[in-house]
Amino acid sequence: MMTRRQAIKTTALVTAAVAIAPAVIGQNNPVPATAGAFTLPPLPYALDALEPHIDARTMEIHHGKHHKAYVDNLNKAVAAHPGILTALRIEQMLQELGGGGVGIGFDMSKKMSELPVNIRTTIRNNGGGHFNHSLFWQMMKKDGGGEPKVELGKAIELSFGNFADFKTKFTEAATKTFGSGWAWLVLSKGKLAILSLPNQDSPLSGGEQPLLALDVWEHAYYLKYQNKRADYIAAWWNVVNWDFVAERYTKLKV
Ligand code: MN
Repeated sequence: MMTRRQAIKTTALVTAAVAIAPAVIGQNNPVPATAGAFTLPPLPYALDALEPHIDARTMEIHHGKHHKAYVDNLNKAVAAHPGILTALRIEQMLQELGGGGVGIGFDMSKKMSELPVNIRTTIRNNGGGHFNHSLFWQMMKKDGGGEPKVELGKAIELSFGNFADFKTKFTEAATKTFGSGWAWLVLSKGKLAILSLPNQDSPLSGGEQPLLALDVWEHAYYLKYQNKRADYIAAWWNVVNWDFVAERYTKLKV
C-alpha cells in the first residue's frame, strides 16, 4: 500500500511532468499524453491574419470553441483510463486505433484495443479533432499560397503531373467530401496520395502521414461563406503555408 509520503512524491512527479510538457504541437514536439496534459495550442498568428480569405470571427470560434472542445473531451477520456492512455502520445493513440503504425516504430504492445468502444470512439473523434486542428493552424499563414518548392514541389509533379492538376484533384476531394470531414494530402508508404476522410478521422489511423489538410466541416466556413464550400476552398489556397508542409514532407519521407 502506498504511504502518504510516497503518494505526495508521486503527485509531485506527475505535476512536474505536466509542467514541462510542450503546449504546442509541432512536427518535432508531438503533444504528450500525460493525463489532463492536452492543451489548446495557441494560434501561430493573429485571429485576423488570414483575412479576407478566412475571417477573424470564424477563426475565433473554430479555434477557441471547436478545437477547445476536442481538447477538453480528450482530456476527460484520458483521465478516465490513465493506465493505458497516459503512456501514449496523441499520434500513437490515433495510429493504434487503426491497428496501424506501420513504419512508425512505436511499441504495438500498448493495448488500445482493450479499451471500451465508447472510449475509442471518443479518442477517434476528439483525439482526431485535436491532432487535425493542431496541424491545420500551422498549415496556414498570412500571405501564404503559391506553390511548394524543392522536394515537395518535385514530388507533387511526379505524383500528379503538375501543381495545377494536384490542386484540381485536392479541390475535388474537398468539394466532394460528403457532410463533415477533411481533404488530405498524405504520405502513404512513401508516396503522395489525396484522401477524403469523414468527421475527424485521422490519416494516422490508416497508417498514413498527413502533409496538408483542409477542414471542410461547415464550422470552418459557414459564417463567411454559408453554403458555398467551393468559394471557401478556392480562397483557402491563398493562405496555405507551403513552407510548413514542405518541411513536414522532408522530415517524414525517409
Ligand atoms: Mn474544424
